[in-house]
Amino acid sequence: MLKVFDGFGHSNWVTNVRTCLCSNGFAYVWEAQEIICPNQFLSIFVQRLKDQYIQSWHESCERNSKLLYYRQFKNTYTPSNYVLMIDIDKFRKCLANFRSSSHELMVEKGRHFNIDRDFRYCPYCETVLEDEYHFICHCPLYHDLRKKYLPVLINSYISIQQFIDISGDENHHNILNLSMFIYHVLELRSKYVND
Ligand SMILES: [Zn+2]
Repeated sequence: MLKVFDGFGHSNWVTNVRTCLCSNGFAYVWEAQEIICPNQFLSIFVQRLKDQYIQSWHESCERNSKLLYYRQFKNTYTPSNYVLMIDIDKFRKCLANFRSSSHELMVEKGRHFNIDRDFRYCPYCETVLEDEYHFICHCPLYHDLRKKYLPVLINSYISIQQFIDISGDENHHNILNLSMFIYHVLELRSKYVND
């Protein structure tokens, strides 16, 4: 009866079943109104839903201009190692926020003030875009902290690709050092800006 109502254009929960099946390539199941092997069908259907979700996750990452770097070092829909490896809340939270561009850097903050991206300057350097790359790899204000936590960054010029590799590094020691570096650098930045 619900199927008949749906056929007449009266939406009910069966409408959602039909929509879900048809939008995932199983319109023939709806038409047939039967499944030969339910367990096999459910297995295939669940996998199809997962695949579709991951595809839409990739697409939304591509569309989101905030995730310029994130989508380059995080290209698989799996839990990142740092979630389990970093057992100190403040460092883990800091890294998670930083990776998803939830931070105070001008590249994000300037968005709220409608400042053109090219003019979202570092408060210390004044003529350089303050994005994650500049913040982690080059800003001289954080040289001492960089030397302490990520000395590899001060021995030679770090390219954007190297920065992306460092950001996506899954090594325990490197991830922990990166999270501590970001935590202390953000504190220093906050103090500098407020002073
Ligand atoms: Zn700077």
